[in-house]
Amino acid sequence: MVCMSEKWHGIDVPALRILRYPDPRLREVCTPVDAVDDDLRRLVDRMFELMFDVHGVGLAAPQVGVTVRLFVACPTGEPTDRRVYVNPRITALDGKQDGEEGCLSFPGIYSNIKRADLATIHALDLDGVAFEETAQGLLARAFQHETEHLDGRLLVDRMGTVSKLANRRTLKELEEKFASATR
Ligand SMILES: [Zn+2]
Repeated sequence: MVCMSEKWHGIDVPALRILRYPDPRLREVCTPVDAVDDDLRRLVDRMFELMFDVHGVGLAAPQVGVTVRLFVACPTGEPTDRRVYVNPRITALDGKQDGEEGCLSFPGIYSNIKRADLATIHALDLDGVAFEETAQGLLARAFQHETEHLDGRLLVDRMGTVSKLANRRTLKELEEKFASATR
């Protein structure tokens, strides 16, 4: 297992930014967090800051280029409603919901994505204590979307042909922007 400290070596937390598709770091399979420590808490604070800046409801660590198994969520948008999931694992899914889904790494793109309506997750909190939570609706959708990020799976993989076609111009713009930024 790659340990957290290795992942952390040389990372400038305040300089972290939200990565956009098609940055290859979004495709990595993330490694488990092996210690819930102050470094991790600093990363979490920065992730919330970046997420609230753009009014997001969920953000996974690989979206800021740190490829460890961690995501944050705030389904109500209230800064007091900060939720953190370290080494999360979905253990049960039930029911169905259909709705628009977006992703902070795909600005301007929304797609209808079918998800389970209920999701149960096991994770550690910021004290390193294990907990289980069952959510419905938007938060259940976030559980499913964010845990997929930790395995390098993205919104675009979930989009159907019609949706890809409808969003093709924006997807192409993101690809061109990334190509010119890395040229
Ligand atoms: Zn996302």
